[in-house]
Amino acid sequence: MARLPRLLLIDDDRLQHRIVQQMVKHFRGAPLELESAETYAAGLKKLLGGQYAVCLLDYRLGERDGLALLREAQAARCETPVIFLTAETSEEVDVAALEAGASDYLVKNEITPRLLERAIRYALKLGLTLSQLRQLATHDELTGIINRREFQRVLDEEWRRAQRFQHPFALVIADLDHFKLINDTHGHQVGDEVLWHVASLLAGQVRTVDRVARHGGEEFALLMVETDRKQAVEALKRLYALLAETPCVIAEKNLTIPVTLSAGVAAMPSDAGSPAELLAKADKALYAAKKAGRNRIVTADGKVVRPVVET
Ligand code: GH3
Ligand code: MG
Ligand code: MG
Repeated sequence: MARLPRLLLIDDDRLQHRIVQQMVKHFRGAPLELESAETYAAGLKKLLGGQYAVCLLDYRLGERDGLALLREAQAARCETPVIFLTAETSEEVDVAALEAGASDYLVKNEITPRLLERAIRYALKLGLTLSQLRQLATHDELTGIINRREFQRVLDEEWRRAQRFQHPFALVIADLDHFKLINDTHGHQVGDEVLWHVASLLAGQVRTVDRVARHGGEEFALLMVETDRKQAVEALKRLYALLAETPCVIAEKNLTIPVTLSAGVAAMPSDAGSPAELLAKADKALYAAKKAGRNRIVTADGKVVRPVVET
């Protein structure tokens, strides 16, 4: 059975928990499951766990306040809509809550079951709409993998993380060889299927910590965390072998289309001092791979690696 949508109440006042519990019992619409946290730390941890459809957050939380918690959650890219609860009728707190990212606020002594239910249903709907929008803004429609904009964000984030922890990471830009010919020979729709095929192959091949993006028309970007240049080349070689074994088969059209890639590899910190430089180095290496005859991997230090399996 599917779980009920979960509602998280973060409030240090036990009485408030009982009040909300009673109200939730009397909701008219579909039931919700209520869970609570009584401290700032426990509340933040649960909220960031991402298991909740909506959160009710109290302003007063012992030593610290709900606004600080909300800001911390937002900084950690929390996606759960938060309804702020406040005892004050102070407008400043309300405005600050909305500015900090709350989707709504309620004044505690004015709450009725109907008002609470309406606010929660609205926040649920808003949360769903926002997550659909987020999906559209960050993913490529054709292949379902992340798009260039999201990849750039992930790359910047990984750059900062790698610097802090002194970890290497590798960036690969891979471009389909003679893709225009596939379009010209079989039509754009077949071209789209080939792109989908390659994207799912790449996505299926990388570790969950790595990221694959559609970086442009028939160009893909891969970010491999805690991976140096040499390890990235090894991973790519396995990928090339798999690609050589797995042509794109379009049964309805009785087509089997072999696909090859040219790839440029650059790694941090060995090859670049910024994300932009890393991208430029990988791009330049990709260009060199095309020039060297395609179906090759070229690293930022100029080494050309031919795949073991030639097609
Ligand atoms: P090279 O080996 O030098 O990369 O040659 P290429 O033919 O792969 O590269 P070129 O840049 O000449 O052509 C890329 C083609 O990719 C042109 C463009 O119409 C096509 N393309 C870009 N996006 C899509 C898409 O979403 N679907 C399809 N079917 N084709 C696309
Ligand atoms: Mg190409
Ligand atoms: Mg291209």
